[in-house]
Amino acid sequence: MSDTIVRVTARGGERWVRGHPWIFRSDVLDQPPEPGLVTVTDQRGRTLGQALYSPRSEIRLRLLERSGRPVDAAWWREQLGNALARRNGIDASAYRVVHGEGDGLPSLVVDRYDRSVVVQLLSAGIESQRSLILDAIISVLAPEGILLRNDVAVRRKEGLDEQVELVHGTVPDTVEVREGGVGYLAAPWTGQKTGAFLDQRPARVLAGALTPDGGRALDCFSYHGSFALHLARRAASVVALDSSADALERGAGNAALNGMTNIEWREADAFEELRAMERARERFDIIALDPPAFAKSRSAVPKALRGYREINLRAMRLLAPGGVLVTASCSFHVSRATFFEMLVMAAGDSGRRLAVREMLGQGVDHPELLTVPETGYLKGAVMTAL
Ligand code: SAH
Repeated sequence: MSDTIVRVTARGGERWVRGHPWIFRSDVLDQPPEPGLVTVTDQRGRTLGQALYSPRSEIRLRLLERSGRPVDAAWWREQLGNALARRNGIDASAYRVVHGEGDGLPSLVVDRYDRSVVVQLLSAGIESQRSLILDAIISVLAPEGILLRNDVAVRRKEGLDEQVELVHGTVPDTVEVREGGVGYLAAPWTGQKTGAFLDQRPARVLAGALTPDGGRALDCFSYHGSFALHLARRAASVVALDSSADALERGAGNAALNGMTNIEWREADAFEELRAMERARERFDIIALDPPAFAKSRSAVPKALRGYREINLRAMRLLAPGGVLVTASCSFHVSRATFFEMLVMAAGDSGRRLAVREMLGQGVDHPELLTVPETGYLKGAVMTAL
C-alpha cells in the first residue's frame, strides 16, 4: 500500500460503497502536493482503499483497489488481462481494451488496432502509473508499438499538457484492421479519438446485417465510410455523406481496400443534403444516422435536440416502405429517455408509421456501469418504416 495517506469525509467514503469511484475535492481532507497512488482512510484512520490522487482536479480521488492488495506490476497485468478477457469473442481486430471507469481503471483508455495499441492517460493520478501500465500492456497485449494519444482537452483540468508520443516500438500512420466482414484503415496518429470511432462497431455490424440484398443505402455522417462499408456488402448502391473531404477520401481508400465500387462519396452538409433529398423524393432501404455529439455541454442540450429531431425527421421521411433507420447519439448530456422522446416527436412530425425494432447501447468493449453514469454516452435505436 502507498505510504501517502489521504483522509476523506463519511460522504466521500459512501460514494465508493455506492459503486462510484470518484471522490470530489470537497470530501477530501488532506491535500498532498504531488499526484500519485495513495491510501485512503476515513476520519478515524480506517483504510477504505487505494486510489489515484490528482491535486489539481475537482475529481481528487479515483478508486483503484478496495482491498489492501498492492497496486503493483502484477496488479496492473491482472487488471489488463481481465479487461481483455471480457472482450473475448469480439469479431474485429480493432476494439477498446480498457474503457476507463467502465473497466475499473479510472481515466485510462487502451484501444487496440491490430498489432498497435493507442493509450490515453486522462488524469494526473493515472499519469503517475504510466510505466507500470505500459509494461502491463507490453506483457498482456504484446503490441508492435504503443502510441500515447494524450492530445485531449480534459488533461488541462489535471494540470497536464497535451501531446502525442510514441512510447514503444513502431506505430504506422495507418493500420489495416478488420471489423466483421469488412476491412478499414485506422489512423492512430491523426484520426478522430484514438484513430477511429470504435464505439459504433456493434451498430455498424448490425446495420450491415439488416441491409436488404440489392437495396439502396445511405450512411449519413459517414466519417471514413464506417457504416457505408458494412451497408455496401449487400446493398446495390450506397451514398456516404460527410462534410469532411479528408474523411471521405479515406473512405474511398477503404472502399478500394474491400474491392467495393458501389459507394458514392458525397461531400455535403447533412442538414442541407437530407432536406434536398427529401425534396427530390429519394428513398432508401436502410439509413445510418450517426452524427457527432451535438450537445457538448448541458446548456447546449435544447439546441442539440432540435438538431437531432430535424435529421431524424428527414431520415424517417427518406425511408422506403419497410426501410430501416439505425440512429444514434453520442452526446453524454442527452439521456436515453430524452433521445427516445426526441424520436417520438420526430416520428410524429414525419407522417410515417415507425416501429421500434431494437434499442442500442454500448458494446462489450465500452462497458457502461449502472452506478457510474459517466461511463455511458452512446445510445441508439433501430426502427422500421411500416
Ligand atoms: N459514423 C461514424 C462516426 C461519425 S463522426 C463512425 O461510425 O465511425 C461524425 C462525422 O460527422 C464526422 O466525420 C464529421 O466530419 C461529420 N460531420 C459533422 N458535421 C456534419 C454536417 N453538418 N454534415 C455532414 N457531416 C458532418
